[in-house]
Amino acid sequence: MTRPILASLDLQAMKQNLGIARQAAPNSRIWSVVKANAYGHGIDRVWSALGATDGFALLNLEEAVTLRERGWKGPILMLEGFFHAEDLALYDKYRLTTSVHSNWQLKALQNARLNAPLDVYLKVNTGMNRLGFLPERVQTVWQQLRALPNVGELTLMSHFADAEHPDGIREAMARVSQATEGLECRRSLSNSAATLWHPEAHFDWVRPGIILYGASPSGEWQDIANTGLKPVMTLRSEIIGVQTLKAGDRVGYGGRYTARGEQRIGIVAAGYADGYPRHAPSGTPVFVDGVRTGTVGTVSMDMLAVDLTPCPQAGIGTPVELWGKEVKIDDVASAAGTVGYELMCALALRVPVVTV
Ligand SMILES: *Cc1c(COP(=O)(O)O)cnc(C)c1O
Repeated sequence: MTRPILASLDLQAMKQNLGIARQAAPNSRIWSVVKANAYGHGIDRVWSALGATDGFALLNLEEAVTLRERGWKGPILMLEGFFHAEDLALYDKYRLTTSVHSNWQLKALQNARLNAPLDVYLKVNTGMNRLGFLPERVQTVWQQLRALPNVGELTLMSHFADAEHPDGIREAMARVSQATEGLECRRSLSNSAATLWHPEAHFDWVRPGIILYGASPSGEWQDIANTGLKPVMTLRSEIIGVQTLKAGDRVGYGGRYTARGEQRIGIVAAGYADGYPRHAPSGTPVFVDGVRTGTVGTVSMDMLAVDLTPCPQAGIGTPVELWGKEVKIDDVASAAGTVGYELMCALALRVPVVTV
């Protein structure tokens, strides 16, 4: 028998999530963001479920080539652009849209020998201070790019640092206006949060990522509970051991959990080497046999323990949902002090994945 842990991906939910993104931004085209191997879901497994998208956005060449080899003929946006001038040969071959965020990229584009011009996303830094030109430089860079025979369609792009909050994009939007004064240009600004919550930032192309996978851009499931978005990934395992504790008995490494009275606990085949967060404290939500309960003690590499008090019928072989439709990944993440993004991206290679 194989180890009982399994991740299953609901591709129907993914299709619906894309539909919900489209309804949220009905006048924009959609870049479906599939970076980081489709947020840990596996680009190969999920891309066809997103076949109704207008384009895919990601950032490593291998993944872009995979999409082309699987037959995707539509646009592919490289969110961080090329990392080395030599990459442009592959951009040319596979017809990739590149972001340009630094001067050296501009020069590389100028000097490249391409078979046909490449579409370019000029990236403006609107306050995140990671990549991009300052707003006051945008017009100059725009004209420089416009003058290059190697540049096809030009679009202005920026990324919000704080679109989860009602007032969070105001300053960034002011900088976009400053950067584009008098410039007629296509724009792409919105991540998932802005796609859902800031229609004034939608413009020509939106770039949703996390909502396609059915988790919340704010980290709070509550914030998307009424949107119809559905979790795509369910991580399940089973109870492989049962212990009955007496008052004072402790559980796991460091003995960080102490039983207050007699208590049954189940040992689940799932640990941090599967991608379950080691920082999840006792009480992190988990579903056992369809009943909500909590973890107890420190998460180990290959196992974790759960309280069986609310589900006395549970025993060896009882199914456990670690996250998915019942236990939202956002809730597990916030218990562990992180966000759903990190957990889904960190699903370990050793966990078998099936699509349903
Ligand atoms: C990751 C990313 C996105 C998608 O962000 P979500 O919060 O997952 O919607 C959009 N644009 C850029 C530039 C990104 O890096």
